[in-house]
Amino acid sequence: MLSNLAVRDIETLVHPYTNLATHRETGPLVLESGKGIYVYDSTGKEYIEGMAGLWCTGLGYSNQELIETATEQMKKLPFTHIFGGRSHDPAIELAEKLKEIAPVPISKVFYGASGSDANDTQVKIVWYLNNALGRPQKKKIISRLKGYHGVTVASASLTGLPNNHIDFDLPLPGILHTSCPHHYRFAEPGESEQDFSARLAAELEEMILREGPDTVAAFIAEPVMGAGGAITPPEGYFEKVNAVLAKYDILFISDEVITGFGRTGKMFGTETYGMSADSISLAKQITSAYFPLSAVMMNDRIYDVLVDQSRKIGTFGHGNTYAGHPVGCAIAVKTLEIYQREKIVDHVARVAPTFLKRLNRLTEHPLVGEARGVGLIGGAELVKDKQTKASFEVKKGVGAKAVAFALQEGLITRAMGDRLAFCPPLVINEAEIEEMFDRAERALDKTLAWAKAEGLL
Ligand code: PLP
Repeated sequence: MLSNLAVRDIETLVHPYTNLATHRETGPLVLESGKGIYVYDSTGKEYIEGMAGLWCTGLGYSNQELIETATEQMKKLPFTHIFGGRSHDPAIELAEKLKEIAPVPISKVFYGASGSDANDTQVKIVWYLNNALGRPQKKKIISRLKGYHGVTVASASLTGLPNNHIDFDLPLPGILHTSCPHHYRFAEPGESEQDFSARLAAELEEMILREGPDTVAAFIAEPVMGAGGAITPPEGYFEKVNAVLAKYDILFISDEVITGFGRTGKMFGTETYGMSADSISLAKQITSAYFPLSAVMMNDRIYDVLVDQSRKIGTFGHGNTYAGHPVGCAIAVKTLEIYQREKIVDHVARVAPTFLKRLNRLTEHPLVGEARGVGLIGGAELVKDKQTKASFEVKKGVGAKAVAFALQEGLITRAMGDRLAFCPPLVINEAEIEEMFDRAERALDKTLAWAKAEGLL
């Protein structure tokens, strides 16, 4: 029996990333409040937010300092844009802080409102830059299958998931996808991680040579693939990718929308994996998701061309109304201050062994073929046969079933196909991590019993 709120939802909302047909039957999960790592639904039931919302509420829920900062900024100056050289203190202070903590030499910061528009900006800058440099043929961008970079026309093209392309007439021409570095799924039998990485780097180089190095402008990657399945890179992967990109003068864009601000146990995933990034996309944990804000951090190599081009042709014609929103920037400044004051990176590094121990323990479960993570992000793959790694038929929806059982157990997780993701708020403590995985294990037991009853095993 659907609640009154659920019925009103069905009658009025088109939900993003939702099976709209199923939603009409099941209705929404209506969340009402949150505290720490917990959220509460409209019946008062408590859940551990095992996905930090959408990989974003780093400081958890109801952080009073962020609420007060937002309120004060709202009272002082709720809005000004930063077009045409207009500016404000929080935007400047945030850019200074970002430069200070950037994992690679960064010269300037360009603001947006979402991870998707940050990556859209990345694409447009790459195109603009190469036109400015008098090499308009050097425009292609290589991304990866299962990479996730957003949903705008350009960023959805970068995304390497069929769901984001089919019937949307995407990807755009000139955006190519190389292989996904998921060792468990795509390595040859007996192939080591280093050998797998070398094969993928060679494949990337072959793609560049086939297309023509003078036509390939940039490569984009998430340090840890998020929506593609919480996939950590195999050993040596980025080291080998760095070398290929450097050889052909190809810009490296690091998409840190999920991994930025401590998620991997260092301030940035770029640092964790030694990625030689020229520019970085940030969003989500930049404000601990208390306000929509994104940023592109770029180096001098890029910025100098933008300035030069303004001299030649005039205004840099890109940016949106809410770019550098004062409330968002003020919250981000406070968020970074808290991350630093509370030594959040050290905290993640300290609790990560417990997280990874419990994540790996999931592989003892009959349904889990692989579990892998870094810092406080990881994934567990549900398989029909652990020996052969055989998957369940997609339409059986085993992953979705596990998520539903986890909800019953008071845990919010997310299934990407049959891969479950775990990405709790960064402030989670060890006891809470244990509790999160206890709930996950109970959900897996229920999933196993269901799969047996359905004759799937
Ligand atoms: N890039 C990555 C790595 C992401 O995970 C996401 C969203 O999950 C995006 C970009 C898009 O961000 P948004 O949903 O804010 O547009």
